[in-house]
Amino acid sequence: MSVIVYIESNENRVKKTSIEAAFYAAETAKLLGTEAIAIALGSHDAAELEKLGNVGISKVLHDSNVKFDQFDTRAITKAIVAASTSVNADVVVISYNQNGKAIAPRVSVRMKAGMVAGATALPYTSAGFTVRKNVFSGKAMANVQILTEKKVIALTPNTLQKVVGVNTSTIEAFSTGVSDADFTTVIKSVEKVTGTVSLTEAELVVSGGRGMKGPENWGAIEELANEMGAATACSRPVADVHWRPHHEHVGQTGFTIRPNLYIAAGISGAIQHLAGVNGSKVIVVINTDLEAPFFKAADYGVNGDALVVLPKLVEAYKKFKSASH
Ligand SMILES: Cc1cc2nc3c(=O)[nH]c(=O)nc-3n(C[C@H](O)[C@H](O)[C@H](O)COP(=O)(O)OP(=O)(O)OC[C@H]3O[C@@H](n4cnc5c(N)ncnc54)[C@H](O)[C@@H]3O)c2cc1C
Repeated sequence: MSVIVYIESNENRVKKTSIEAAFYAAETAKLLGTEAIAIALGSHDAAELEKLGNVGISKVLHDSNVKFDQFDTRAITKAIVAASTSVNADVVVISYNQNGKAIAPRVSVRMKAGMVAGATALPYTSAGFTVRKNVFSGKAMANVQILTEKKVIALTPNTLQKVVGVNTSTIEAFSTGVSDADFTTVIKSVEKVTGTVSLTEAELVVSGGRGMKGPENWGAIEELANEMGAATACSRPVADVHWRPHHEHVGQTGFTIRPNLYIAAGISGAIQHLAGVNGSKVIVVINTDLEAPFFKAADYGVNGDALVVLPKLVEAYKKFKSASH
């Protein structure tokens, strides 16, 4: 018996969500008294894969077939199932990110495994196998017991505080047996957004809400984000009225993030927004209304006009940067 985790890389770096899933797999393996193994498909940087040892992965199986770089859910599912069978994995851990949402249910069907979609905590294993997940946008939690022998856990990104050690994983070349015929889709072209930090991977996020008044005022948010090397985010109504693109929308119906710092300008802090950001380490809220609910969740609050405060923050940050060089 073992626990296996699916690993993804982006531009030669293992994704933050995969490192978190690997940590989850390693901690689950400890609870079950077994080892945690990773499966990596396509192009990866070997040194990055070795670093998975830091979160408790003993071995990485790597099928380097570059065809896996094209995101083909059928082929990837088949490969994960082949790897799981080969190491006799009873538990498969997959990050419930955009890709994981497509893969995890397929793996679960192929393995006849019970699945928890959107796990938020390690399993309880003392009596059965029960995994917690959020329901009703984080207002309640459900403890879901998986009764099947094989189990798939799709982990909500940015929910765990990982502990990092100093170990190295061994990398083993592995053939998943996936053939060219298993790749049934071809990506003809990819248009990548460049020069911006990926929201779910970001450690610093500057976000704006309806209090920013209009898209013409986003310059200060973008400037602050650029200066800090942060990603930009927004509340849902802002994306709904097309002030900002939907891939920036955080919350219950958007992305869940867990950065070290979340700066929220002109956002009220409705429960549906908080559902996506309340795992942030430090929350800074800028709002004109002292009664705004976000102040209750904030570590630091500025009671003021975001259109005035943000340019001052940019100025202060620039001074701080030049003084520390
Ligand atoms: C099923 C469902 C799912 C939802 N999912 C999401 C979700 O995923 N994400 C999400 O964000 N919302 C979501 N919502 C919407 C959510 O309930 C709130 O309506 C939304 O978050 C409010 O956005 P806002 O804070 O930008 O706007 P508002 O509620 O209009 O708040 C604007 C805030 O800005 C402040 N303000 C005004 N002027 C200034 C200024 N000059 N400077 C500083 N502060 C100022 C105001 O005091 C106010 O607090 C969902 C709602 C439902 C029903």
